[in-house]
Parts: sequence; C-alpha cells; structure tokens
Amino acid sequence: MTAILETRGLTKVFGGVVAVKDVSFQLHKGELLALIGPNGAGKSTCFNMLMGQLPVTSGDVYLEGERITGLTPRQIWRKGVGRTFQITATYASMTVIENVQMALMSHHGEILRFLPFATRMHRDEALALLDMVGMANQAERHSAVLAYGDLKRMELAIALAHTPKLLLMDEPTAGMAPKERVALMQLTADIVRDRGVSVLFTEHDMDVVFAHSHRIMVLNRGELIAEGNAEQIRNNPMVQDVYLGGGTVFASEGAQ
Ligand code: ADP
Ligand code: MG
Repeated sequence: MTAILETRGLTKVFGGVVAVKDVSFQLHKGELLALIGPNGAGKSTCFNMLMGQLPVTSGDVYLEGERITGLTPRQIWRKGVGRTFQITATYASMTVIENVQMALMSHHGEILRFLPFATRMHRDEALALLDMVGMANQAERHSAVLAYGDLKRMELAIALAHTPKLLLMDEPTAGMAPKERVALMQLTADIVRDRGVSVLFTEHDMDVVFAHSHRIMVLNRGELIAEGNAEQIRNNPMVQDVYLGGGTVFASEGAQ
C-alpha cells in the first residue's frame, strides 16, 4: 500500500548545523504517528520541510507516492495537507461559526465572489464541523472571547474544513492545561478513526503521546534513533538515555 506520507533521506543544514539528518519514514492511512524528541532535536524543522515552508538541503517528500519536494506551502495545502496551530488563521472579530464558514469558502474557492454573503454560506457544514470538535454550542460567540482550549478546537475545525488527508500538528497542545491536552488528543484520535485522516504530531507530554499514538518515532540531534509502539519506546535504552541520561521511567513533562 502506498504511504500517505513518505520521506527519504530528509536533511536540513543551517550554516554549519545539521538540524535534520537523513530522516526516512512512512505514515500510513488512518495512522496517528508521534514524532518526539528533546528541544532542538529537529522536529519543527522536519515539519517545516514537509509543509514547504523551508527548502530541504537534500532528500525528498512524497504524498501518496507523488514527489512534493520544493512545492510551495499553498500547493502542498491544496493537495490535502493541513496544519494546525502554527499559523493562527482566525479572525478575532468574527464568530466561531463565521471563522469555519470562511475556511469552507476558501476550500471551495469562493472567497472573493461570495464574501458579501459570508454569513449565509455553508452554515450547516460549518455547524457539523463544530459539532465534531465539541464547539457547536459556542458557534455564535466571538472567537476573541474563547478560552484557549476552545480556540484550539475551533482551529481544528478550520483545518478540517479543507478535508485534509493528512494533518501536521506541531505541538498542538502547547500552552494547554493537562486536562485540555488529553481532551484535544482524544478528539484528534477520534477524528483519525472516524474520518480516516492521517496525523503526524509532536508533543511534549509523554502521557499524551503514549495514550494516543499508534506509533512513535524518536528524533535526537536531527536523527531518528527509535521507532515503535508505546511499550517499545518506553523500554528502549537509547530513548531513556536521551530523555533522562539513563534510568527510570518517563515523567509527564519528559521532553521539556
Ligand atoms: P525542535 O522543534 O525539535 O525543538 P527545531 O527543529 O526547532 O527543533 O531546531 C533544530 C535545530 O535547528 C536547533 O539546533 C535549532 O537551533 C536549529 N534551527 C532551527 N531553525 C533554524 C533557523 N531558521 N536557522 C538556524 N538554525 C535553526
Ligand atoms: Mg519545535
């Protein structure tokens, strides 16, 4: 089966620093794959290359077998790759549902033609997306007044408006309280299961990573050093070394 996402020998050098070195992996349909590693390991640099925000030094990225290396972020987004929580493409002056309606209009290529009718477009579809992320009851609130966790859920609905086949989530729960983190990742896992979306995410909280990922990859100093399920990663001596200088179990904030 063709992987949704595949990288081959992905490498990024900044001046003299090798931030990402020869990273090769596959992500399959319906998979929730975690990329973990200490600060500075190269996780965000990987994400930025996958999304076309950073040119690769060498190596390639394939989306369903098609080489997408060197495409612009917009071209990659058009091919069905969504990303959440880095660019906050939300409008504080609009209501929650209007934000999702705008995303749906953008998805359907209607923004300029139909802008005057924005509040009437795709209301039912927008409401269905908000329902999926548990935000239907806040549809008419202004997004400026949302609690942080709710803002993140609205952003997830906006990302889903583009019906991505792949979602890239770089630290989606950053700044959230532990309870909200678990809830957001549970929600993401539900969406992966119900919509067949594939997700690659990074996350600091090891409890969240172990509870929700199907598979985990560990990056250290730009190199992939381990890959496996929660049990295999937890018991991997190299991974324990990286996180704790050898020894004991993972703590909740292990990667911070
Ligand atoms: P992570 O997301 O895992 O914390 P990053 O991908 O942000 O790691 O960073 C990996 C390495 O690349 C770090 O050493 C960082 O300082 C370096 N780096 C990241 N972005 C740049 C940049 N734009 N210019 C120079 N060095 C960078
Ligand atoms: Mg990062």
